[in-house]
This record gives sequence, structure tokens and C-alpha cells, in this order.
Amino acid sequence: MVTTGVNDLDKDEVNIISGALELRKKTVSEVMTKIEDVFMLDYEAVLDFETVSEIMKSGFSRIPVFEGNRQNIVTMLYIKDLAFVDPDDNTPLKTLCQFYQNPCNFVFEDVTLDVMFKIFKEGNKGHMAFVHRVNNEGEGDPFYETIGLITLEDVIEELIQAEIMDETDVFTDNRSKRKRIADRTRQDFSIFADRKTESYKIRISPQLTLAAYQFLSTSVESFHPNVISETILRRLLKQDIVCLIKKNKNWRADAGCVIYQQGKSADYFVLVLEGRVEVTVGKENLTFEGGPFTYFGTQALVQTIGVAESPSIPTSTLGSLESLNIDSLLKHTFQPDYTVRACAEVLYLLIKRSLYLAAKRATLMEKSQRDNNQSGEQFDEEVDKLLHSLDEDGSTGGATPRKISKNLIHQQGELENIASKSTSPRNPSIFSNTSPQKDINGRLSNADLHNELQGREEEVSLLPHKS
Ligand code: ADP
Repeated sequence: MVTTGVNDLDKDEVNIISGALELRKKTVSEVMTKIEDVFMLDYEAVLDFETVSEIMKSGFSRIPVFEGNRQNIVTMLYIKDLAFVDPDDNTPLKTLCQFYQNPCNFVFEDVTLDVMFKIFKEGNKGHMAFVHRVNNEGEGDPFYETIGLITLEDVIEELIQAEIMDETDVFTDNRSKRKRIADRTRQDFSIFADRKTESYKIRISPQLTLAAYQFLSTSVESFHPNVISETILRRLLKQDIVCLIKKNKNWRADAGCVIYQQGKSADYFVLVLEGRVEVTVGKENLTFEGGPFTYFGTQALVQTIGVAESPSIPTSTLGSLESLNIDSLLKHTFQPDYTVRACAEVLYLLIKRSLYLAAKRATLMEKSQRDNNQSGEQFDEEVDKLLHSLDEDGSTGGATPRKISKNLIHQQGELENIASKSTSPRNPSIFSNTSPQKDINGRLSNADLHNELQGREEEVSLLPHKS
């Protein structure tokens, strides 16, 4: 630094040289992650879906395990130790710890970084160390107290005088805990874990919900993240949309086993999660079987009768919102040219068109909110409100499956009910207004349009009523 201006070094090089010289002066306690900020697990914890999702969410590859209190670290869990653990088995963490017995490396708080660097370079004890000190305050015998942890990354950052980010880091700096700019590839799956708080009659494991989520977002075009955002899809899957058809010896004759009937209108999409269905197609009644992750009825979600979009609708986000609202007014015409029957016990997701369109709207709202840089919290609240209204409101996609799930058996009559239901009360404020202006949610309130679309489906909005 003294020779800046006359030397031939650039800034990074000067930083590294001065960082190297500083290593001898700095101690581990100055750069460690403090114990209160360390993500750790209790030795008594159970490796269920919740715990595993929390571990994934933390982004760390090594997790200290404590017994009794957080200062008493007894071993370490490496993420790779989880490779053969099935969250379904609810394996106690201690079983895994006893099996792997990963050792912990302890260093005293006044160890300097050059010494620490050397220890890490040798690699015998791994690239993480716990920093401890002897606590002889108060009465009683002195004891070791763990005050933080340090990794090779912390030392190298001091050496090069810059933050290193890796693919899983959540914080840019372990001391200031500055959060990294949102990484869109990181997902929080723990959202699937709290289903138990819901009062739905049919519950599926969080793993199965997660599998359905991954399948829909990657393999079904109508649920691709460009159409339904990942956040909204996760919320959609938390609705009461799971149905079960019990095993029935008489399944060929029993109308209760029919999921789709050839030629009969249907306004829902179905994704089989477990069990088997028999599909009969065409005049020749060709049959084949479908198993988990077979899906039907995407046409019911996207197909509308051919009313061209109004030329006055701009192509902005709000414009798309408007066309979506028109979509929801249009009578769907999906009539499957196949019959789908449950030939064994079948667990499936049933997503009604109205719920799907509501999710599409919410995605648009989310996008425009992001474009306008509104606070995420406010948006979350709004979508939550709206999904709750979906829950309580009988006019939504969640309503019919709940009816089914109460009986635990899918009744054909109810299925017809799903297909033909158009009785939900309309929001008069949308249609009483004869001016062609939009209401607050961007719905068209043109009476002419209303007249033309008398036969529309129920109106469901994922948008809040007031904003
Ligand atoms: P990882 O490989 O888990 O990302 P690194 O060795 O790259 O861990 O360390 C990155 C930063 O995270 C360092 O500042 C380190 O002190 C901190 N760190 C590592 N593991 C934990 C943990 N379990 N809890 C809190 N901070 C941690």
C-alpha cells in the first residue's frame, strides 16, 4: 500500500499480499461464525421431512450436532450422510450419528489464522473447526465452552480480502449476515411440510406433494413456471385438491370409479398420484392402463370457446390479466374422448379450471408486483388472503374435492356436479357496471360482454377483493 503508485501491482494483488501478512495477526475468534448464528441440530432430532427441508433450506453442507445445550457440540452431520435416508422412515438423528461418528475439530479462540490455515491444508480433521475457550467465570470448575465455528472458506476470505460465494451460500458474509441476493434456484420445500395444520380429510405426505410439484412444474406445460409461478404452484398444491377412490371389486360397473366419462363435459385436470386407472379411448374402446403421474384434462384448463380477444386489450401484464378474466367467463367445452376409471385404489389431484385460472391470475399479479417493486410481504399477505377465501368459498376449485374427500369415496354424482356446476353467486359489482372500464382487479365490467357470456363458468379470483 505504501508503494501504491510506483509498484506494478493491481488492487487485488495488493489485497492478497496484505491479507497474507494479516493472517499472522488475526485470530479465529475474529472471523468465526458466532455460535448463536450456527445452524445446528439437536442429537435427539428426527430426520423427518420437516428437518430435512430445514437442512436443505439452510444451504450448509456440514451441520454440527449438539446434545443438551448448543455449546455442547458432540458430532457433525454431513449432508452426504443423508443420501440414503428416507424422510418417510423418521430416522432418529442419533442413529445416523452413531453410525458415521464424524469427528469434530476444536481450536482455541486465540489461534491465529496462519496456524488455522495450516491445519486446514493438512486436511486430517476436515475443513471446519469449532472455536472454544475455557470458561472459568463464576463458581464451580472451569469448563470448555464452544463459541463459534470457522471453515477454510473464512480463512481464505481473509487471505484474499474478499467474500467467496458458493452455490449454496445463503449469506454473503458470516459476521454481518448480509443476505445474498435471492437465488431463484433455491427452493423452500418446508412449505409442503405444514399440511398437518390444515383440516383436510385426505392428507398426502409432503414428499408426495413435492414430487407432484416437481412433476407439474417440469413436465406439464400448463403448470410450467412461465404460466404458474413456483410460489403460486406451491400454494395451489396446498389447497384441498386431493381425492381418493377406494378399491372396489365392481369398478367396471360402479359409476363412483369413473374419473372422466367419454363425451361428458369436465372442467378439471387430474394427476394420478398413486394407484392405477384404466383408460378407454375412441370408438373401438381401446384400453390401456395408467399409473402414478399419468395426467388427464389439460384441455379443460386451457380450452375455451372461440371468442377472439378484444382488440382493445393491450399486451401489457394487465392486458393479459384482462384476457385471463375473459377466459374465466367463457364456458369451457372440454369433453374427453376417453373414459378414465379407477381400477385399484387411486389417489389423485383434481384441479378445477377455476382454481387454475385463479393461480394464473395470481402469477400475473406476482409478476406485476415484482415489476413495480412492491414489497413481497404485502403480496404474500394478499395471496394468502385470496387462497384462504378459496378455501372458505364454495365456488372454488377446492370445494368439490373436499366434498368428495369427506366421503373418502368418489361418487359419480359429485363428479357430474363438478362438471356442470355454475351456481356460485356472482359478484354483482363486476357486472352491474355498464361502463367498459375495468374494476380494481382488472376484470372487464362491460355489460355487453356479460350478456354475450351468459353461459360462463363460475367466477373465481385469486386476487384480493380490496387492494
Ligand atoms: P458450506 O460448504 O456448508 O457452504 P463453507 O465452508 O463454504 O460451508 O462456509 C461458508 C460460510 O458459512 C462460512 O462463513 C462458515 O463459517 C459458515 N458456516 C458453515 N457451516 C455453517 C453452519 N452449519 N451454520 C452456520 N454457519 C455455517
